Amino acid sequence: MTTTPVEVPSKPETQFQASRWLLSIKDLFLHAVLQDRVLQRLYPGVMHLLLFWGVSIQILGSIIALLQFELFLPFTIPFPVNTAYLWFELIMDIAGIMIILGALMALIRRLVIRPKSLVNRWDDWYAIAILLLVPIIGFFSEALRFIASQPSWRFWAPFGNILAEGLIALGVDPITADALHQFFFWGHIVVALIFVVSIPFTKLRHLITGPLNIVTRPLRPAGALEPIEDIEEAEKLGVGEINEFSSDLLLDLNTCVQCGRCEDACPSNLSGMPYSPRELILNLRKEFHSTMISANGNEIEPIMGKALDKETPWYCTTCGACLKVCPLFVNPVDTIVDLRRYLTLTTGDIPGEVGEALMGMERRGNPWSMPKESHAPWVKEMEIPIIQPGEQTDVLLFIGCAFGYDSRSQQAGKSLAKILQKASIDFAVLGDAEGCCGETARRLGHEYLFQVMAEENIETFNSIKFNRIISPCAHCFSTLKNEYPQFGGEFRVQHHTEFLSELVHEGRLRLKSSENRSVFTYHDSCYLGRYNDIYNQPRHALNAVPDLTSVELPRNKENAFCCGGGGGHMWMEIDPETRINHRRLQEVVDSTKADTIVTACPYCLIMFDDAIRSKGIGESVEVKDISEVLTDHVYSEG
Ligand code: SF4
Ligand code: SF4
Repeated sequence: MTTTPVEVPSKPETQFQASRWLLSIKDLFLHAVLQDRVLQRLYPGVMHLLLFWGVSIQILGSIIALLQFELFLPFTIPFPVNTAYLWFELIMDIAGIMIILGALMALIRRLVIRPKSLVNRWDDWYAIAILLLVPIIGFFSEALRFIASQPSWRFWAPFGNILAEGLIALGVDPITADALHQFFFWGHIVVALIFVVSIPFTKLRHLITGPLNIVTRPLRPAGALEPIEDIEEAEKLGVGEINEFSSDLLLDLNTCVQCGRCEDACPSNLSGMPYSPRELILNLRKEFHSTMISANGNEIEPIMGKALDKETPWYCTTCGACLKVCPLFVNPVDTIVDLRRYLTLTTGDIPGEVGEALMGMERRGNPWSMPKESHAPWVKEMEIPIIQPGEQTDVLLFIGCAFGYDSRSQQAGKSLAKILQKASIDFAVLGDAEGCCGETARRLGHEYLFQVMAEENIETFNSIKFNRIISPCAHCFSTLKNEYPQFGGEFRVQHHTEFLSELVHEGRLRLKSSENRSVFTYHDSCYLGRYNDIYNQPRHALNAVPDLTSVELPRNKENAFCCGGGGGHMWMEIDPETRINHRRLQEVVDSTKADTIVTACPYCLIMFDDAIRSKGIGESVEVKDISEVLTDHVYSEG
């Protein structure tokens, strides 16, 4: 490659202006105050909501109460015993009970329910203990005060009052209560101060870092990685030492509450690979604390080989499942890609298959390392127009490497072209001028190569006129749509399922039922679904086939299980025991009676095809791209 990468346009100032603030406020309300993601799981959701609201109200109430003393300010703000005060007492009492209930639920969860993903670290126990101690001592202090002074309004603090009645029944008289009250009052203050002081050193830190992480997270589209700006001049390529992570990612490390939701969703972990996004984050946090805090930044060592094994960054398929479930928006994918960038661009210490795929892209322009002449032979066969600079078309079909070079996907590409021809779409392809979109290079950490490829394609797109780009590959689609704009490539990009759904909707593609009845199940591609929210269009196009029987997989849409091909895994040698595509195929076999798996991405198509062959079950189940299914049912031209 001789071309130099494009200069990354600097972020417009406006990004940080009004819209950013409005979005941050919305995020804060939705994810921190209402805790929508936490509530996706009922038991821990309710538990956390009780704790969050209880603690927040108690902190606020304590500040109001402290303002009555000349402690931090040279004046006091008295709070007379009026109606507002009585409501204040009632709310504080309820908040105290909420904390106790939440902490008890946490205790039951850890001691009795014990979900597999829950790990017990010392600060988990510490957090539960302190969350129980503060309100319990507080209630005793309040009850003793009630016994000693018998205020007429004590019924407004019902739980303190009930405890007072209980203590009286046990024989505690006003004089004893007065003596004991001093002890509990100061005990309550000391334990509350220990709670506050321990926030930075325990998982309680998420009280501060959680909301901060939610509102300051980068606002890139979900499918876009952060570019290395001025890559030619950049002194640092990727992250080799802990201090080289961006402040966003360092905040991530200190935000994680080790809840394990990411681990529960991670296909690599669930398939038995020695990898967990939670462990990745926790190991890096440990490294951060030991080098930046304990050693005061003086003894920084390389991450690889110390905090992490050198294989760790390669287990991730970048499927994004962890990103969708983390209640605090921790981002293991950006972390992984930063580590890969360092290994790929700085040390070169990468797995052999990764090196081969990248070399194929550098030398032959595609990760399959195939000669250009073998790209999409069906283009010539079907007499599809190849657009030349200066020419115009309605639809530019960006074929991509998979549909171009992989023999199974080529059949799907041909089907798509057939549909476009039948629907009389004015479309053309780029022929030899089409380059790899660079997605694989970027996910494997070769940002430089990606930027070169992006620049070449953007230049080509700019040399012709078209209304929209249609991509049949979820990875090309996501890259063209979400990542090319980082380099000035703003085009209207659609995935072929969006376009097909449109054709069906407009009546330009009419479909008939088939005599060969099949049961279909649609597999959501990670890069189409989780990264681009395209769930309904493929289903709409598929369900337009009359009399079609389709069943949903148990893990579908946002919770869909990865096919195992993303993040460069398509080209990696994976232990047969831990293959993600085998797991997903097993899910189809075990939970549906489907005989046809429908995909909307060539990676998924290839991975399922490979799994079906390996398991030798081609007689009972097959995989088809959605274009192939529709081609089988096309009735006539619209
Ligand atoms: S990264 Fe998020 S989902 Fe994973 S353990 Fe930490 S807080 Fe939980
Ligand atoms: S992106 Fe997918 S494979 Fe990677 S850590 Fe997250 S859940 Fe696991």
